[in-house]
Amino acid sequence: AAKDLGKNRFMVFENRMHEQLLTRLDQENRLREAVHRGELRLHLQPVFAVQEGRVVGAEALVRWQDPFRGLQQPGSFIPLAEETGMIIEIDRWILLEACRTLRHWQVESPWTAPAWVSVNLSAAHLDLPDLTDHVAYALATTGLSPQCLVLELTETVMMRDVAVTSARLQELRELGVRIAIDDFGTGYSSLGYLRDIPVDVLKLDRSFITGLVGNGRQQELVSAIVQLGHTLGLRVVAEGVEDADELNLLTVMGCKFVQGYHLGRPEPAHQLYERLTTPALHS
Ligand code: C2E
Ligand code: MG
Ligand code: MG
Ligand code: MG
Repeated sequence: AAKDLGKNRFMVFENRMHEQLLTRLDQENRLREAVHRGELRLHLQPVFAVQEGRVVGAEALVRWQDPFRGLQQPGSFIPLAEETGMIIEIDRWILLEACRTLRHWQVESPWTAPAWVSVNLSAAHLDLPDLTDHVAYALATTGLSPQCLVLELTETVMMRDVAVTSARLQELRELGVRIAIDDFGTGYSSLGYLRDIPVDVLKLDRSFITGLVGNGRQQELVSAIVQLGHTLGLRVVAEGVEDADELNLLTVMGCKFVQGYHLGRPEPAHQLYERLTTPALHS
């Protein structure tokens, strides 16, 4: 009897595994088709300059309009895309779309166009020898000037192979684009890479901003990081600013760039464009 029970359990387990595998394969296939079917969407989140009091940049964030499950946030498909290598194609699509959108905006409404758009790149790109060529291609076909493009890489990416990473990033910087360290402070990494790896922008992770109000120790820490960034000649952008109190604290600390729900949520690119080019919709 014990043996039968074990066998039944095994079959239940096997069926479940089978089901999960099919779901995964199904999702993988649909994600693979998503790019070609035009199901990816470019959302933009504004980056705000504290002193000027206006939007000066925008971050490109991918969404997937899945015909079965509706609009998907990156958390639900980026991990699979990274595992399968599909992330390369997705990031390339976003890169091109982001460059095209900002260029169009500059031509149509130069006074309201953000000065830059930033695009997230997954770690896998750094293993591709044609990364710089591809970025150059995106700039050339859209006509966007390299100074208007920022590439965001997470801190953990920087830590991989310092020699390879810094060589690749240096190539990109010679093209004229800027490099940002995304989610700064979450990678449990040594600060030593800031010495060896050429970067221009430091994006302070949202976890440092959450709970900032009323936590003196955290405020000292954030203030010190902002100083560190400025001392190294970097732009510092605080991520995840959700209310006026956080914004005020960051302003006092001398942080010049902020991004977060308080300043604007990610929204379809054309929606942000329309919002910023139509003064009547501001209030
Ligand atoms: P990230 O690059 O750090 O982007 C910031 C994330 O924080 C976005 O989530 C944004 O919606 C969210 N966020 C912004 N302000 C606030 C706030 O005030 N409060 C809170 N709670 N959240 C805020 P999203 O769009 O879900 O993207 C998550 C992550 O997925 C991104 O983190 C990035 O690592 C990745 N990702 C997004 N788009 C792409 C892409 O095109 N390519 C790659 N490789 N990764 C991407
Ligand atoms: Mg980012
Ligand atoms: Mg981030
Ligand atoms: Mg992130």
